[in-house]
Amino acid sequence: MEQEQINQSLAWLDLRGDAVFNKIPPARRRYYLDSALAAGERAASTLQTRDIRSLYAENGIEIKLEQGEGLFFSVRFRAQFEYSEAKSIRRVTLYQPSLESLRTSCERAGQPVTLEQIIDIHLAHEFFHFLEHHQNQPVGATLEKVCHFALGPWRSYSTVAATSEIAAHRFCQRVNGLACYPSWYDWLWLIDTGKQTQQERDSLLASAWAELQQAV
Ligand SMILES: [Zn+2]
Repeated sequence: MEQEQINQSLAWLDLRGDAVFNKIPPARRRYYLDSALAAGERAASTLQTRDIRSLYAENGIEIKLEQGEGLFFSVRFRAQFEYSEAKSIRRVTLYQPSLESLRTSCERAGQPVTLEQIIDIHLAHEFFHFLEHHQNQPVGATLEKVCHFALGPWRSYSTVAATSEIAAHRFCQRVNGLACYPSWYDWLWLIDTGKQTQQERDSLLASAWAELQQAV
């Protein structure tokens, strides 16, 4: 698979993981994928600078490096974003042990990245979420809603939350000039730590690409 095919397949896997994915009419799935990727591209292209640290400084966002594990209810976090205009909180917390673990996995996979680059990748991802909050416009809210429940005349609609993640990943990729959609690094970590095998990843990506072709 070519790099951009892999990238789009990774984004497709993000979309497929959305709670309402199965409620999206198959002919509309591509619309969410393409729109989310485009939202990330657009946000990256409008930046005056791609120096993520100066964007944090300009916007008064605090960067906190934690030595703890970032473990909440057995889910491990590498970064966490807190935003409250009312309480004047703009803060991204990075959990160093988790970032170190990712760095080690990338190195073992023969795709070395420095800790600084890993930090920049997480900062860029979270900066996109900051922009969404700050502009009061999450990506999902800018796209068509999906009907996820219907009973007689009643209809309940929901946004597709995964579009925020996809846009944040694409934004991060562009701001950092990465060849790969950043969830690729998660895969390197999953494989290195024995949570997935390379074959599982490759077959998931191949089936994602096949689904994506059919979604046109
Ligand atoms: Zn995110």
